[in-house]
Amino acid sequence: MDCIFCDLKNKKMPAQIIAKNKDFFAIFDINPKAQKHILIISNRHAENFHDYFSKNPENFKSFIEITNSLIEKYSLSESDAGYKIICNSGEKAGQSVNHFHAHLLSGKIGNWQV
Ligand code: 5GP
Ligand code: ZN
Repeated sequence: MDCIFCDLKNKKMPAQIIAKNKDFFAIFDINPKAQKHILIISNRHAENFHDYFSKNPENFKSFIEITNSLIEKYSLSESDAGYKIICNSGEKAGQSVNHFHAHLLSGKIGNWQV
């Protein structure tokens, strides 16, 4: 199966990992839509939010933990810009990589409404 995020996870493609835990890793988005645009990606391949968490609901705790650690690492709670967490699920909802990931976004770029 061809999957960019599995390739990043398996080091078939280079990636600068900014955080990781037993279930997830985080990188900066290659095509940022915000001043800070982080991707939180599951180690295990699953198509989307529901596919991932319906099989491993207990992993929601480690998802929250890595997300909170990134909010703290980049002082997003203190940032005037605030932040958003988005999981696009399905092509029509904007999902382009079919491997579960969340976007953590802070700070506007151009006219893009974060
Ligand atoms: P989606 O559109 O599926 O919600 O989000 C996929 C995101 O992955 C996009 O924002 C896209 O820019 C990002 N992306 C795609 N390929 C790569 C890559 O090879 N490296 C990184 N860092 N980001 C990627
Ligand atoms: Zn994958």
